[in-house]
Amino acid sequence: MNLAYETLVVGPMSNNVYFLVDQESKECVIVDPSFLPQTQLNYIEEKGWMLRQIWITHGHFDHIAGVKAISEAFDPPVPIVMSLESFGWAKANPPTGMYGIRMDEVPRVDIPLKHGMWLGINPESDEKVVEVRDVSGHNPGSVIFYCTQLKIAIVGDAIFKDSIGRTDLAGSDHEQLLKNIREQIYTLPEDTILLPGHMDATTVGHEKRFNPFVRA
Ligand SMILES: [Zn+2]
Repeated sequence: MNLAYETLVVGPMSNNVYFLVDQESKECVIVDPSFLPQTQLNYIEEKGWMLRQIWITHGHFDHIAGVKAISEAFDPPVPIVMSLESFGWAKANPPTGMYGIRMDEVPRVDIPLKHGMWLGINPESDEKVVEVRDVSGHNPGSVIFYCTQLKIAIVGDAIFKDSIGRTDLAGSDHEQLLKNIREQIYTLPEDTILLPGHMDATTVGHEKRFNPFVRA
């Protein structure tokens, strides 16, 4: 296994779509497939990758808009991996057709995410590539994917460089988010690169020192 990650920025909210790739087997996972699923499918094809799973950090529409189209572009459909809490929230709060872009709902969950579980790139393997940590607060059932080998954590909208996820939205809980950032993100090694759902990457060390919302 020779892991790498890549970032593709798509759509009107400049979502960061991440790919975790095993450069030996060419198998990959896509995280938070946002708007413009065909752009993401083309990217995978151009790279010569084989998509094995779709991982979702949380249920907001800009992180799940491409899930159905990308899953169903393959036969059999690519497994969808999401917490049941986020899935339930997304079902109860369907996208509203903002930006005039078609947004499909997530059709099903094939592998329910749970705090503390480990995932491999290929769902058939028992390789431990990322640890799943619950960071609910911005959205119920939000998770991060922590990859020890690459020293990265894909954090969705839980934390941003010098900022944190919004907590004025339906289902948000500000205190819970702060607690989870402290307990689930700030406990990672300081040099861990945090890859958020929007904007620039940062590190655990930087945020512990400079994040004005959550001091370590
Ligand atoms: Zn969000």
